[in-house]
Amino acid sequence: MAANDDEIVNRVSSGKIGLHKIDELADPKNAAVIRRKAVEKMTGTTLSAIEDDKLDYASIRNRNAENVIGSIRMPLGIAGPLKVNGELALGNFYIPMATTEGALIASVNRGAKAITLSGGGNARIIENGMSRAPVFTLDSVKDTSKFLKWVKENTAKIRKVAEETTAHGKLLDIVSFATGNNVWLRFRYDTGDAMGMNMATIATEAACTFIESNFKGARCAAVSGNMCSDKKESLVNNLFGRGKTVLCDALISAKVMEDIFKISADAAHDVNLRKNLLGSARAGSFKYNAHFANVIAAIFAATGQDIAQVVESSSGYTWTEVRGKDLYISVTLPAVEVGTVGGGTSLASQKDALSILGVVGGGNPQGSNSAKFAEIISAAVLAGELNLISSLAGRELGKAHKKLGRNTK
Ligand code: NAP
Repeated sequence: MAANDDEIVNRVSSGKIGLHKIDELADPKNAAVIRRKAVEKMTGTTLSAIEDDKLDYASIRNRNAENVIGSIRMPLGIAGPLKVNGELALGNFYIPMATTEGALIASVNRGAKAITLSGGGNARIIENGMSRAPVFTLDSVKDTSKFLKWVKENTAKIRKVAEETTAHGKLLDIVSFATGNNVWLRFRYDTGDAMGMNMATIATEAACTFIESNFKGARCAAVSGNMCSDKKESLVNNLFGRGKTVLCDALISAKVMEDIFKISADAAHDVNLRKNLLGSARAGSFKYNAHFANVIAAIFAATGQDIAQVVESSSGYTWTEVRGKDLYISVTLPAVEVGTVGGGTSLASQKDALSILGVVGGGNPQGSNSAKFAEIISAAVLAGELNLISSLAGRELGKAHKKLGRNTK
């Protein structure tokens, strides 16, 4: 650090200037060094493990994070091969997973082996649309009624205004929900290969300005009125979908169940009924599954997705049937929010992880990369479900975690 940098550290640590001010005084990489030194001084710590000279600090500034001081490194592992029979994802895939939870990657790996031996996971996207739902206030319920009608009659004009803000986004529909003099308009967009939350917000903001100027008395109280629903557990996402609604299934033969998991299809089905269906119902959960969140979180962390969207992306249902002596298993994920452009996908290591799946950047045709990615994710989730249900049925969950999660035999 130069003498001038030491002076900045002193000014920050003595409270004369804020952490964010360093960005005005130093280039992005040096700003991170100075900020880290200031934090070390203020907290009496040494943060050598957080130091990272490989991050592209210039591209992170004003895009991915503020007040950056370095990076947190996580182990990145691979599960697979996993055979996927999607519409876009076809063949064997190796799944990048960033996690600190021992046994997780091994769990998906074993499930993947069983699915691959059984011919693969059949993945289909049945709905696609990223939502943003502003809340409007009106004077009275009479106006609510008029407003609902007006929005229906003027959807084409609203669409034009919204789509003027983006070269890639398309407004699919607007679904209205009214409560007294409050109205939520749930805008849903095709966002191509982007997860689309910024895109949808920018487009919806423009639409809200148009609506306020053209319907007297309507006031947009918030561009996000929580009927979207972003980063929150919600029935609306489960019913209408958000991002991509994905299904994946496989038929696991009795032999594969016995060879890999040492259990019968009946035993796995019994666990699914009592745990994932009845147990979740009894708990009042939205997640009728064993651990979608584990798999989704690890893939999201590895590939630069918005980690907080694990909340709704991991909602969903695991369904099983015994067919003869074989196990039919499916997963339903109503709200998989993923992109291969935008957000954290532009970071170098996250881009590398996406490249393992062959889904870096924009697809051709537009949207095909993010769709392929969602199909692969659904198959990985299926692998995780199959393995955990089977581990529970075979009473080996504790044993596996003791061995792989605690570094003990
Ligand atoms: P973004 O990085 O803000 O924007 C991505 C942009 O890439 C698109 O808007 C589009 O520009 C362009 N693009 C280029 N090729 C494309 C292709 N093939 N398909 C689609 N777009 C393409 O990303 P985002 O997905 O809209 O938003 C993700 C970010 O939003 C994440 O960082 C997330 O953390 C954050 N986020 C924001 C909010 C919010 O309320 N604003 C909420 C949650 C999360 P054009 O639109 O100009 O065509």
